[in-house]
Amino acid sequence: MYDLVVIGSGPGGYTAANRAAQLGMKVACVERYSTFGGTCLNVGCIPSKAMLVSSEHFTAAQHHMAEHGIEFDGIKLNLDKMQERKREVVSQLTRGIAGLFKKNKVDGIQGWGTIESPTSVKVAKPDGSSETLETKKILIATGSKPISIPGVEIDKDRIVDSTGALEFGEVPEHLIIIGAGVIGLELGSVWSRLGAKVTVLEYMPKILGMTDDEVAKQAQRIFKKQGIEFELQAKVTGAAVNGETVTVTYTDKNDAERTVEGDRLLVSVGRRAFTDKLGLENVGLETNKRGQLEVDHDFKTKVDGIYAIGDVIPGAMLAHKAEEEGVVCVERMSGIGAHINYDAIPDVVYTEPEIAGVGKTESQLKDEGIAYKKGKFPFMANGRAKSMASTDGFVKILADEKTDRILGAQIIGPRAGDLIAELAVAMEFGASAEDIYRSSHAHPTLAEVIKEAALSVEGRPLNM
Ligand code: FAD
Ligand code: NAD
Repeated sequence: MYDLVVIGSGPGGYTAANRAAQLGMKVACVERYSTFGGTCLNVGCIPSKAMLVSSEHFTAAQHHMAEHGIEFDGIKLNLDKMQERKREVVSQLTRGIAGLFKKNKVDGIQGWGTIESPTSVKVAKPDGSSETLETKKILIATGSKPISIPGVEIDKDRIVDSTGALEFGEVPEHLIIIGAGVIGLELGSVWSRLGAKVTVLEYMPKILGMTDDEVAKQAQRIFKKQGIEFELQAKVTGAAVNGETVTVTYTDKNDAERTVEGDRLLVSVGRRAFTDKLGLENVGLETNKRGQLEVDHDFKTKVDGIYAIGDVIPGAMLAHKAEEEGVVCVERMSGIGAHINYDAIPDVVYTEPEIAGVGKTESQLKDEGIAYKKGKFPFMANGRAKSMASTDGFVKILADEKTDRILGAQIIGPRAGDLIAELAVAMEFGASAEDIYRSSHAHPTLAEVIKEAALSVEGRPLNM
């Protein structure tokens, strides 16, 4: 008899399983694929970041090294090698999860998990056999899957989702992307850097929907300079494949019917919670209209003893959000009063430059009628950014008008994804903009832009 059976080994599931074992529970983690790690490690965060880094090196070698006095002749792309390195990075990390399970004495079990009752999970194994795990509690961490749109069928060859777009064996000549969200921009950047013409069709009037307007505008300008073309307010109506050509039809912002032809199409219009063949009906659990499982503050579903976390429940679809939920869920099961501050969960887009945010954006504060002060400082005026030749972007800090408490922050610029951590911690501690600028920031570092942005909240930057 297990104390806890976790279904799904993504960042939510494997983290919860390990933490539960650390807390003394007897735990099994069921995963239908042959490797642990879920979307994030196998076909998401990790392979995409590996390809982003490799393609960034390729661009640097081609276009940016010369200004540092480093000259190359005959730069060539070896895509097979690049893909091989990516697979090796993935393999090392997924094997790492198996190692962690071993260390923490979690039984990692390969097979499709189906809930049979609130205390049993049947696992259908790849060899055709099955096993029923008896357990006190069940944690659903089955994650999410990509979606498509009517008239566009993913054939996994010419028309692909993110998984397919990470695996192209050759650089597309013209990659069309539906959706200017995180996946569209990250994977669009990869293939654009490697030589593809990239056209992004986006339904909304801006890219990166939830991102701060000013940041999104500047990002679009920079991506355009990098060669990515955008067609905003484009309503895609269908896609057809003819030999090696994909034709996408859409209605443009003036309601005119348009077509665009390419050799590959990436559909990146969002993801849906995944609960297929999970056996929810066996225990009377239903999903909401968006296919998600609703949970309470303790991550309990409406069935006693069954919990859910990560992409399968409402909220941002982020690996670190799933991880936090996994830890808090099992700690609360054990009587520890853990909590999550959803206002201080950062989000990062790993383009060049990176884009990161935490807390509220200006438009959210305006919509909520919250009075705020704003401090903004550009990387252009920062010594480290200059020496890196990476000066695009800025840090913006939004603080409560009366109390000076930080309500949100956005960064577009070099290493934004790492820099945002300071502001997330600051928000977690309820810091003010003054707390930030009174803290010493090493010189010369990119973090000094954060300090200057905090000073700018009071209208008195030191270096501009
Ligand atoms: P998942 O990681 O989806 O894991 C769920 C697991 O459950 C899967 O392995 C699945 O096989 C398994 N499963 C499902 N049903 C069953 C069943 N019945 N039996 C057994 N096993 C089952 N997020 C970030 O924070 N940063 C990033 O940089 C980032 N990059 C991304 C890039 C891409 C291309 C994609 C697609 C996503 C990216 N994400 C990123 C999002 C991130 O991957 C997800 O938010 C995260 O993986 C969610 O974790 P999870 O544990 O909830 O689910
Ligand atoms: P997304 O929600 O980020 O973006 C989807 C985009 O597609 C939106 O801009 C939307 O307006 C557009 N769209 C929707 N329907 C459309 C249509 N019919 N025609 C044209 N455009 C349309 O989704 P995604 O990029 O697919 O990413 C899925 C999830 O994965 C996200 O929730 C994200 O959090 C996660 N993810 C995170 C990271 C990261 O943290 N760096 C990276 C990749 C993915």
